[in-house]
Amino acid sequence: MKKLALIFAVAVLIPSLVLAWLAIRSLKDQQFLLERQQSLLYQGTADTAARQAADLIESCNDEFAAVLEQLLRGQDPASLVATFDETIRGHWPLAQLGFVVSLDGRVLCPKPNGRAEARDFLGDYSRFLGNRETLEVYSNVKQLPAQVLANDQKQQESSSWSKDSSANRLNAVLRNTQQRSVVPQQNYSKLEQQVAVPAPQPAVDNSSRVSPSETEFRQLIGEQSRGSLARYVDNKLNLLVWQRPAKDPGTVFGAMLSLPRLVEKLEPVTRTMDRSLAAEACVVLLDDSARPAAKSHPSFQTNWKRPFVATEIGEALPHWEIGIYLLDPARLPRSAGLFKLTLGLLIALLVATIGTGSWLIVTDLNRQLALARKKTDFVSNVSHELKTPLTSIRMFSELLAEGRVTDAGKQREYLGIITAETARLTRLINNVLDLAKMDRGEKNYRLQTCLLNEVVCETVDLLRPHLSSAGFQLKVAVPEELIPVRADRDALAQIVVNLLSNAEKYAGEQKEISIELSRKSGAPGRAEVRVLDRGLGVPRGCEEKIFEQFYRAHDSLNSGIPGTGLGLTLARQIARAHGGDVCQERREGGGSVFTLWLPTTANDP
Ligand code: ADP
Repeated sequence: MKKLALIFAVAVLIPSLVLAWLAIRSLKDQQFLLERQQSLLYQGTADTAARQAADLIESCNDEFAAVLEQLLRGQDPASLVATFDETIRGHWPLAQLGFVVSLDGRVLCPKPNGRAEARDFLGDYSRFLGNRETLEVYSNVKQLPAQVLANDQKQQESSSWSKDSSANRLNAVLRNTQQRSVVPQQNYSKLEQQVAVPAPQPAVDNSSRVSPSETEFRQLIGEQSRGSLARYVDNKLNLLVWQRPAKDPGTVFGAMLSLPRLVEKLEPVTRTMDRSLAAEACVVLLDDSARPAAKSHPSFQTNWKRPFVATEIGEALPHWEIGIYLLDPARLPRSAGLFKLTLGLLIALLVATIGTGSWLIVTDLNRQLALARKKTDFVSNVSHELKTPLTSIRMFSELLAEGRVTDAGKQREYLGIITAETARLTRLINNVLDLAKMDRGEKNYRLQTCLLNEVVCETVDLLRPHLSSAGFQLKVAVPEELIPVRADRDALAQIVVNLLSNAEKYAGEQKEISIELSRKSGAPGRAEVRVLDRGLGVPRGCEEKIFEQFYRAHDSLNSGIPGTGLGLTLARQIARAHGGDVCQERREGGGSVFTLWLPTTANDP
């Protein structure tokens, strides 16, 4: 049994508890994991939107090239130059201003005496376009078609805004590392950290991945056919696209883009999100000051500096970002909390189940151990119980058989002893057989209506000679009123015999036994047979155990009283099979009272 308990502990209990402990530890990280999972999901969306935005801006170059080509088709470059500002604005809504520069540094359009916007432009850019000044710009250039620049062997085809080797080659004199205007939540290792730190500093590098290069316009162009550049003038973003027509590669036509129109063009990018995600998050196009330029949920407001995830658009729109904001930021901790609670409850249930299972197994093991011990005791008790009467029977029958006892009185006495011992043997064997039958569910009762008065009187009469000869004073109180019960007569007699023989066995010095039959007062339809003695009494704590199989409160070793621990078990089982019970209580003044109660029947036998 101990080995079994050890195997159970090693194979089931300890691993289960370790697993439960690990699961409880992992509970703490659930919120972080959930947030991480979500941020990965939304990061993908933000990256895609940022890519789409960059592609749309890239397409402005193509649009400009197409418009210019159309304009040049109708007229020759020289005649277009003078009116290019007005012409391009008239033909391309995205253009806010048109300019023309010759490769040798002459600004051909707009004219210095033109409209105010043109004058401002010239103030900001004429020295740069004329190659007399370097500026910090974010640039992107495109190569001329191969047939135009056939002499340039080293040109490479490039279409990317951010990784253009030619632009990078342009001596990046000064590279500023700028911080991003937003701090996405995924930059923190844990949500708790954000809550704990009121003005959080990013746990990871939050510097922008785009940085300006300081360059002259001529240097920027190199041998490229077209390109674009972005620049901040007084914190206002200027976006310029330019093109060297194949017809006249010595002239650079360019346009400054209208930012509000560009934003209109980019607006659909915020609405490309998956529908299920759109119900939970808002996609926002953020400008360089982290102000929303366009958003998927127009009425949504929040702290724009703290998106859940964000991606920079790149050199095409420097320091502009696609930010994703949770519509209900409390939902994440709430779901994490719910998840934690569910998991916690499951773990608690698991631990409780393991605990209950272990307790049941230990209890059962203990029960099995106790039963095994009791069975061993039973075998030795039964052997003893069989041996004692058999020895007396053999001794007295030998004495009588050898004719050594001539006195008639003695002969009667010995015969009486032989009869009593035989009855004891019969009782013992009956008890053992009956119990075995009951255990197998084979015990059948022959129920009939009989008078309890008769059963009690007959049984007492049967035992009276033996008890009297053993020096017992037996008081019998049976009422004149007849008490009918529906029962197996022999089985009832067996209960009474067992109770009386216990009263005899555990009588001690005071050999006084009473048996009383009555209708139970206050409980109509119930009769009780009470067997009272002034004997040893049932030790405290054993009041219920004495009804268990093989249990003996006074064992043979210590008390010297023989027994098997079956009499009361049997008595109770028979009584319960008849709808009644056998109970024990302490008797005032010492001794015990054993009560058999049974339901009565109205019918007379
Ligand atoms: P047995 O008498 O063979 O041991 P029982 O089932 O009849 O088995 O009784 C169980 C135990 O209950 C006894 O061992 C004894 O300790 C206790 N007991 C039964 N009857 C009495 C009684 N009248 N007085 C004191 N103890 C009793």
